[in-house]
Amino acid sequence: CGVFGVINVAEAASFVALGLHALQHRGQEAGGIVCHDAEQGFNSARRFGYVRDNFTKQSVMETLPGPIAVGHVRYSTTGGKAPQIRDVQPFFGEFAMGGAAIAHNGNITNADALRRELIERGSIFQSSSDSECIIHLMARSLQRTIPDRMEDALRRVEGAFSVVAMTRTKLIGVRDPLGVRPLVLGQIGEGWVLSSETCALDIIGAKYVREVSPGEMVVITADGVESRYPFRPQKSRFCIFEHVYFSRPDSIIGGRSVYETRRQIGVELAREAPVEADLVCPVPDSGTPAAIGFAHESGIPYSMGIVRNQYMGRTFIEPTEQIRNMGVRLKLNVNRALIEGKRVILVDDSVVRGTTSRKIREMILEAGAAEVHFRIASPPTAWPCFYGVDTPQREKLLAATMSEEEMREHLNVDSLKFISLDGLYRAVGEAEGRNVACPQYCDACFSGEYPVEPSDQIEKGFEL
Ligand code: 5GP
Ligand code: SF4
Ligand code: MG
Repeated sequence: CGVFGVINVAEAASFVALGLHALQHRGQEAGGIVCHDAEQGFNSARRFGYVRDNFTKQSVMETLPGPIAVGHVRYSTTGGKAPQIRDVQPFFGEFAMGGAAIAHNGNITNADALRRELIERGSIFQSSSDSECIIHLMARSLQRTIPDRMEDALRRVEGAFSVVAMTRTKLIGVRDPLGVRPLVLGQIGEGWVLSSETCALDIIGAKYVREVSPGEMVVITADGVESRYPFRPQKSRFCIFEHVYFSRPDSIIGGRSVYETRRQIGVELAREAPVEADLVCPVPDSGTPAAIGFAHESGIPYSMGIVRNQYMGRTFIEPTEQIRNMGVRLKLNVNRALIEGKRVILVDDSVVRGTTSRKIREMILEAGAAEVHFRIASPPTAWPCFYGVDTPQREKLLAATMSEEEMREHLNVDSLKFISLDGLYRAVGEAEGRNVACPQYCDACFSGEYPVEPSDQIEKGFEL
């Protein structure tokens, strides 16, 4: 998901709409905005679908006045279920000291246990979202201010959270102690901005100030930024998959250009798994920067062997297997004139179920390719993510049940190679590779080493 908030600007909600539009790649199912105005109090709007189809309408935006607003774009991690508007964030709570809205990116790994406990003690849940726990924990806190109540609440929460929240007068940002999901601070005129990614600062012309640190809470008013550290300090474990796929290539994470990292993954891949061929083609758009790096390092010409229809969303957002199967064809088409008779290297960011790769291999062979070689910009995805990225159950992950050679056979390609975990770490700037004793990033979906125990899942029978 994507979160965005702004304080101390006129028509804050219109900035939030723009910010969410730039974060749309982080969630396409639904979006919501909450704002506050001295005269009109709190207002909100929650809608299914793209930001551009909902939050550009005057009829919607004129209901969202005031100098402070927060928003959320959602991508459901509760796969399969029909989407419900009551699950669309930001969530709002009315407390003794006033209202507060919160938008959460990540996933709370002890949400089921917390929900059970809260319901037993009288909380009335409105949604099925793990994020709603935060509001109820805040309601039960005995602290006198909303930031203090948030501290209390978040100390009980486990897992990954980047939260953007607001009261009548404050914008609040928090990252979990491991800093699994991103959150950055920006400035615009006299105003302040919180955003999942820097690309959403650019769209409104805000200046990048810094990242919110892992374990940090920033409480922002018209007077400035106050910084607190509510949690026991831990070594940070940022999600390495943000670098590979999730973030936009024009964002800066941890001082690194996401594009440059992806290009470097391609360079590493070309060194680790070279192959003779005529063309390097990205699987657009997620494989493009790595393909550029691969082509550069190998000296094999880069070409647009597959063309993407710009009007389709990301394949993996589509809910059912059947539509996902269709999706690839609706979204990607082979550039036959380039492919015919050629030995083709296809570069993609990841293989999850293998649906995309299979379809593409079919299309490429139909177009008359002589050989097809897959190069994948992440190690095999063998474990589900429980920290806010929607990977399917373990059984559905190709790499969970098959060896690399079995996957190659299943995809029916001439060769298949994934970047090594060390190669990936080198590409994100860790010259020595992965520190085995104390990994620098979360890489659980590749390594199976979960930095936060997924306790709800273990209770449901998940085996580490
Ligand atoms: P597959 O078709 O193998 O299930 O999914 C791989 C494709 O989905 C890749 O092209 C990749 O761009 C995209 N993808 C990236 N991240 C994720 C994710 O977290 N979950 C899913 N299901 N697909 C993803
Ligand atoms: Fe990121 Fe993978 Fe860790 Fe999930 S499990 S937070 S996708 S690195
Ligand atoms: Mg892709």
